[in-house]
This record gives sequence, structure tokens and C-alpha cells, in this order.
Amino acid sequence: MSLHPQTIATRAGIAQDPTFKAVVPPLFLSTNFAFTNIGEKGAYDYTRSGNPTRDLLAETLAELEGGAGGQITSSGMSALTLITHLLKGDDLLIAPHDCYGGTHRLLTALERQGRLKVKFVDQNSDEALTAAFKEKVKLVLVETPSNPLLRVVDISKICNLAHGHGALVCVDNTFLSPALQRPLLLGADFSLHSTTKYLNGHSDVVGGAVIAKDPALAQDLKWWANCLGLTGAPFDSFLTLRGIRTLEPRIKAHQENTKAVLGVLGESSSVRTIYYPGLSDHPGHAIAQRQQKGFGAIVSFELHSGLEGVKRFVSELRHFTLAESLGGVESLVAHPETMTHASMTPEARAKAGISSSLIRLSIGIENSDDLIEDLKRGLASATHT
Ligand code: PLP
Repeated sequence: MSLHPQTIATRAGIAQDPTFKAVVPPLFLSTNFAFTNIGEKGAYDYTRSGNPTRDLLAETLAELEGGAGGQITSSGMSALTLITHLLKGDDLLIAPHDCYGGTHRLLTALERQGRLKVKFVDQNSDEALTAAFKEKVKLVLVETPSNPLLRVVDISKICNLAHGHGALVCVDNTFLSPALQRPLLLGADFSLHSTTKYLNGHSDVVGGAVIAKDPALAQDLKWWANCLGLTGAPFDSFLTLRGIRTLEPRIKAHQENTKAVLGVLGESSSVRTIYYPGLSDHPGHAIAQRQQKGFGAIVSFELHSGLEGVKRFVSELRHFTLAESLGGVESLVAHPETMTHASMTPEARAKAGISSSLIRLSIGIENSDDLIEDLKRGLASATHT
């Protein structure tokens, strides 16, 4: 019988230390490992290429995602950099028009340098996808739900389309984690993470991961990660593995609080639009219900009172810290236009639908009464001029 994911996550490497019988797997910081003799090396030689602590994290994530193997990288951006190395020269990558700003910047810069070709496409538009597939496509990058507008893409549908054209599919699963969505089981070839977010979950590690379904592609990733030197640090892997042990209970608590937050936003006359796939009027609600185990804990919304209202709202908050990132136990508020998506051009932001009145909340696991009281105060001040 296969184990429940939470058991896999909590018990990863537990009580397997042959030397001292340590319950928690030891942290191997060593950069190098001794050869027994000339030409005789053990399981490891050099930490950039392989490290027991990092490998344990990779194996755990691969098991949680249902993949053949994975690479742990130094950040989510290096995970994206790694996947782009499966393309060369004129190979075409289809990316979401509303992806994370750093992803947009990376792909645009690589195209400028002639390292690949990229088309940013609204992946919910059949027309736009059909037009994009008129050319030979090598890789489709999907981000669902997307950052910051929580747009949902039907993973099975886009995988069928891409595979029909001989293209691979990589899903950025950062917003949900394998606790809520398993893209490889829906047909994707890769699941990618900024482990900085929910997987580590405590806002004290920047890291990334790419998990491959196919063993040969997993080997390709391993080769490139070592070649480029993108692999993550052992200490970061140790902390991330510690974070993963509590993934499901954390996500449950995040989602419980999100319900309470949605109640406050929904009742407020200061709020113009709420973006959350759990709401029945969200355009991706039915797909999210089908392909996700929950709707997550990121909520974006727009205020009626524009940028001035956003400033008043944010300055009133005590328990939502104005900061980049998301997915940690602490609640955060971000203004995508000036923060996470500032590197996009105003035109690209407008095309993606990111306005100056847009606010993104990462809802933490504090007591919900305190979060509600905080938001009510912020929303009241956003209304007043
Ligand atoms: N993918 C998504 C969806 C993100 O939100 C982020 C960062 O916010 C990244 C990738 C990049 O991850 P990192 O900041 O760990 O490099």
C-alpha cells in the first residue's frame, strides 16, 4: 500500500542514520567526499554534483510529486534557468502572459541574447494557443494558479495539446505545492518550484526544484544542474526538508484563514474585485476544483480607491507585513506593480492585467480573528479620502 503524502513528508529520512542512529537525518555540509583509491569513488565526490542532504530532499519531493527524480536548485529562478537549458537557439518556449515578473524578465533576457525564442500567450485562449502552435514548440511553461492574478490553466488539456505537437510541459507549482496539486499526474513532464515559498514555508531559505516524470529527462536535468552549478546548498536543503515535514498541516491552517479573509474582503465596499480560484464566479473555478485538492492561500484584490487607497490600506496593517515573497507562516501583503512585477514593462503589466490598485495577500497561519481585525481596519482606511 502506498503511503499518504503527509507520512512521506514527515518521515523522510527519519531513523536511517547507520552511524549514530540519529532520528533526524544528519546534515552533510562537506564539499567533498574521499575516494577509496585512484578511480574508486563512493556514492559522492563533490557537493556541486551530489550531496546526501540535498538528494534526500530531491527524493522526497520526487515522491510527493510522483516523478522519477528531481534537482534541487539555489532558487526558483535557477530552477527556471535549469529548465531553459533544455532549449537552444531557435527552440520556441510558450510562456504565460501573466507569469511571475522574474520569470518574464529571465525569458525576455534569454530571447534578447538569442538563447531561445519565447511567446507570451494567454493560455486560457484556445485561439492564442492554436496560433502559437503554428510554429514548432519545444516547451510550454505553465504557471497555475498564476502570480499574482490566480488565473487557472487546465493542465491536462494543455498537456494533450503540447504532446500532440511534440512539445514538453513544465508546470510552475509554486502557489500550491504537491499538497494541493500534482501536475505530473495530470500529464506534465516537469513540476517546478520556488521552494522559497510553501515547501520551506518559513521564509528563511531561497531555493528551487524541478521534478521530472521521465528518468531520462531527470538525468538531463542532473547533468545541466551540475554543469551550470545551479544546485542548492546542503544547509538550505536541510531546512527545506524540515519545512516539508509540516507541509499539509500548514497548508490546512493557511486555507482555513483564507476562508476567513475572503469573508472580510467579500463584505467590504472598498473592494472592487477579488481574484481567488475558490470563488464560484472565478473563471477557473471548475478547473481548479477538478485539478487541485484545495484553492490555496494567495488572494489578490483590487480596491476602488486606486494607488492612494492601496497606500492607506497597507499603512494601517499590523499583521500583514509589506514584503516580497509568499507562502511563509507569516501573513504578507504585496503591491505587484511596484514590487514582484516591477521588472515587467508597463505594457506587459497592462497586458497581464496588473493594475496599480492590485494588492496580493499571502495569508499566514496566525489567529484568524487578529487577521480579520487587521484587514477591517485597513479596508476602512482605504475607503476614506
Ligand atoms: N515562480 C513563482 C510562481 C514565483 O512566485 C517565484 C518568486 O516569487 C519564482 C518562481 C522565483 O522563485 P525564487 O524567488 O525562489 O527565485
